[in-house]
Amino acid sequence: MRQDAFYAGLRQNLDELRAQGLYKQERVLASRQGSTVVCDDGRRLINLCANNYLGLSGDAFLDGAAREAIERYGYGLSSVRFICGTQTPHKQLERAIADFLGMEDAILYAAAFDANAGVFEPLFGEYDAIISDELNHASIIDGIRLSKAARYRYANNDMLDLEMRLAETGHKQHRLIVTDGVFSMDGTIARLDKICELAEQFGALVMIDDSHATGFMGATGRGTHEHHGVMGRVDIITGTLGKALGGAMGGFVAARREVVDTLRQKSRPYLFSNSLAPVIAGASLAVLERLSSSTELRDRLHANTAYFRRAIGELGFTVKPGTHPVVAVMLFDAPLAQRFARRLYDLGVLVSGFFYPVVPLGEARVRVQLSAAHTREQLDAALAAFGEAGRELGLLGR
Ligand SMILES: *Cc1c(COP(=O)(O)O)cnc(C)c1O
Repeated sequence: MRQDAFYAGLRQNLDELRAQGLYKQERVLASRQGSTVVCDDGRRLINLCANNYLGLSGDAFLDGAAREAIERYGYGLSSVRFICGTQTPHKQLERAIADFLGMEDAILYAAAFDANAGVFEPLFGEYDAIISDELNHASIIDGIRLSKAARYRYANNDMLDLEMRLAETGHKQHRLIVTDGVFSMDGTIARLDKICELAEQFGALVMIDDSHATGFMGATGRGTHEHHGVMGRVDIITGTLGKALGGAMGGFVAARREVVDTLRQKSRPYLFSNSLAPVIAGASLAVLERLSSSTELRDRLHANTAYFRRAIGELGFTVKPGTHPVVAVMLFDAPLAQRFARRLYDLGVLVSGFFYPVVPLGEARVRVQLSAAHTREQLDAALAAFGEAGRELGLLGR
């Protein structure tokens, strides 16, 4: 039967993934998310691989805010926003996101993936150009594909290449430069000050996806635009509620009022998908209130990051330089990175190994992500494990 060939084809593709070592196994946690987690084999490990930058994921602080929201507004809405799916906390959260980021208005989505999938098509048409960093997140790439605008790419964070793309697109009606605020594989920060300069020089718009920055980059945690001193000069900011801001799910676009209004009228993932659960809207509101009143979590995260970055360098590891809580510890060789991550697991430390095709060939690494929730003791124990595994595998002097 023809269907048999279909299923056999899938099985063969899956087998090939396994043979190439590219098959992704899901790790099952038997505990909350946090600075340590219990795996389903019952072992408690120090967790260095969640996007839990501010330590709010799994924190009891949010249980209370979530309980309050659920008691008042219930569990679900069974409606899109514009029919009967907008409650007070949705409007309050949109206002709070816009204020936190220093933007006019904001609109919620079920995920940042949806925000990026829905932001380009209503705003940019066949006479326009979108100029995108080559390392931008998959959701940006997919979102751009859904629009009729001409597509251009520039080399990662390469301002000369970006300038060339701007120079060659002068005939287009509107131009948008789009970049991740922070590139999550390397922890490198987009050169947003220079990007804004070029945008002004060439009359282009600027969009950032600040999923790995909102809540903790910049002096008061507003994001990459605050970090680079360009608040008020970025046209569109997309981001997630699923990382630093509590870690449940949800995304947003923040921009000028006419942009957000247009998205409310025309953005397909917004119009044709259910409202964010009220429990998430209410709890996210509590997160933004807390982050607006104190930089304590952000400060603790950066202190942990500086501590870990200095110590891992002193141990003798090669890391991608920077200041972001994503720390790429370079092993270069894919099997070595896998063995290293496995040995760290045995020593009680959870990190993820990345190798080609997720990162360029010859740039295999383990990625460490720091959190405000990590204690000094946990970081010291993790660093001791890095030292031990590194010496065992011959990566460090003895
Ligand atoms: C994680 C991430 C997303 C997706 O966020 P979700 O809210 O989980 O869909 C989008 N863009 C970037 C840059 C991300 O890192």
